[in-house]
Amino acid sequence: LKIKKILEDIYFFGGSHHSSNTYLLEKQGIIIDPGSSLRGRIKKFLNVLNKVGVSPSRLKYIFLTHSHPDHSQGVKQFVSNYQLKVFAHPLAKIILESKNPFLSLVEREIKETGKYFKELMGVLDYHIIVLISSLVYGKFEPTKVDFTFEVGKILFDDREIEIFFPKAHSVDDVCFYLPKEGIIISGDLFDPHRGNPYSPILITPTADLNFYEKAVDKIIEFKPKYLLPGHGFPIFGEREIYNYLSKVKETIERYKEKTLEILNKNPEASFYEIGKNLEKRKDVSANVLNAYSTLSILGFVVMKALKRPR
Ligand SMILES: [Zn+2]
Repeated sequence: LKIKKILEDIYFFGGSHHSSNTYLLEKQGIIIDPGSSLRGRIKKFLNVLNKVGVSPSRLKYIFLTHSHPDHSQGVKQFVSNYQLKVFAHPLAKIILESKNPFLSLVEREIKETGKYFKELMGVLDYHIIVLISSLVYGKFEPTKVDFTFEVGKILFDDREIEIFFPKAHSVDDVCFYLPKEGIIISGDLFDPHRGNPYSPILITPTADLNFYEKAVDKIIEFKPKYLLPGHGFPIFGEREIYNYLSKVKETIERYKEKTLEILNKNPEASFYEIGKNLEKRKDVSANVLNAYSTLSILGFVVMKALKRPR
């Protein structure tokens, strides 16, 4: 488990393929995204905390950036060991508190695909997706969410946190901006260390490329000095972050232009044909789906943003 002190009381704990990064705001006892509990990650996390001299008994709150299992599946284990209060987006609360969070998540995404479900999923039955997910991320039990976030500024002790809902990577995205420190905690809007570090993370049908673009603009306006992503390593420095975000914006533009180009040549182009012209499977973020479905979803999300129904 990689650990890094970002500022005097802000820590980064590295994730893996099946677990997000975790952040700790020590003074307030806030954990952002516990990640997955598979492979003893939560235990390792608590051990590391002890090593850096942070007593787990000081942990008070869990903040979730969204409902995806690689970020939120480990909450249950945390809460059963310590009396932490969980905060999430109102739509994440619905998923997490349902009888079977995986199934609820998959059903929400399927609903978005409408009549295109077969084209996007190919031969995959959605029960199989739920099964594979539980193998990759671990058992996803119903998880109580004590409080839901609202857009705006909150004060936790003397730490100011601005909350906004990008609705970009997932409909239940939450981003945190710490104005005093110039820190953005972005959840899965960014993953600077995958194949194509600048690609927007469009791995589920509810992802929204237009909202993505707006969110990136908003973050650029904050002029952050620290970008703390859901996966991959943090980016430091105003200039570095600006350059990174500009390239993400360029990628979004390229996706749209390329898709229009393909549709001009062939108005009947499949989602897969579009997706595979935008990225290679190895260059987009991990999910449990095969190359066909992953690239089809990418094509679907870009088509949705261009409002080009077939
Ligand atoms: Zn995610």
